[in-house]
Amino acid sequence: MYHRRKRKCRVCEQKLTLDYKRPAELKQFMNRLGKILPKRATRLCAKHQRALALQINRARKIALLPYVGEREPMKMRR
Ligand SMILES: [Zn+2]
Repeated sequence: MYHRRKRKCRVCEQKLTLDYKRPAELKQFMNRLGKILPKRATRLCAKHQRALALQINRARKIALLPYVGEREPMKMRR
């Protein structure tokens, strides 16, 4: 048996689709503040972490996902 050095992420294994039209699936990669979780938390590979961020931002733009979740502890300026 092989000891795989690189483990594939859930998207690579096709157990999950990153799609802005499916906010329910994107939500699991966000915390309750509506922020995208870091790579170490999502356990996605670099490629799909980027894809995730892209899809989430797309979903936000068309209001499928919130920019801000329940509560924002800090005020952020854009
Ligand atoms: Zn991947």
